[in-house]
Amino acid sequence: MPEDGKDFVSQVHGISVHLTGVAVHTIKEYALAAGDRETGGILVGRYDGHGNNVTVSEATTQSKDSRSGRTWFQRGVHGLKDLLQSRWRHGEYYVGEWHSHPRAAPEPSANDIKEMRAISKEISYRCPKPVMIIAGTSAAREVYLSASVFERGGLVRLQESSVSSET
Ligand SMILES: [Zn+2]
Repeated sequence: MPEDGKDFVSQVHGISVHLTGVAVHTIKEYALAAGDRETGGILVGRYDGHGNNVTVSEATTQSKDSRSGRTWFQRGVHGLKDLLQSRWRHGEYYVGEWHSHPRAAPEPSANDIKEMRAISKEISYRCPKPVMIIAGTSAAREVYLSASVFERGGLVRLQESSVSSET
């Protein structure tokens, strides 16, 4: 069943993040499939509006060199360079990270914030405002998403917007 896209905004910061239905579907499906272990990957898409409007068109699934436990996830890098090179030809780039919180709220942990801050400073990502999506799952197999953006080292929490998306 196709998923609807999702929109997240911060009116105060003038920042918006759009997740396509495809990206939402991948995140939900793999967050649930990973059971009691965290899983995750990178977000691919594009920036518009001087970097303030992000479209996430794709979420990758866990690369095989990733490691995880009940409350931690260490994303690997296997295959990502080739994937990003092929997306780059279509004008799409690395825009951030996602990971799951099995049977927990999609609240960024202190460690999540530390890692994203490091990424936002890492030149090789060339990504000044990385997006962080967290997928919290429930025992009833529901998935709740949160979205944050890192701007100048600070965490900006976005609110889910009720405006419906077409893609
Ligand atoms: Zn986390």
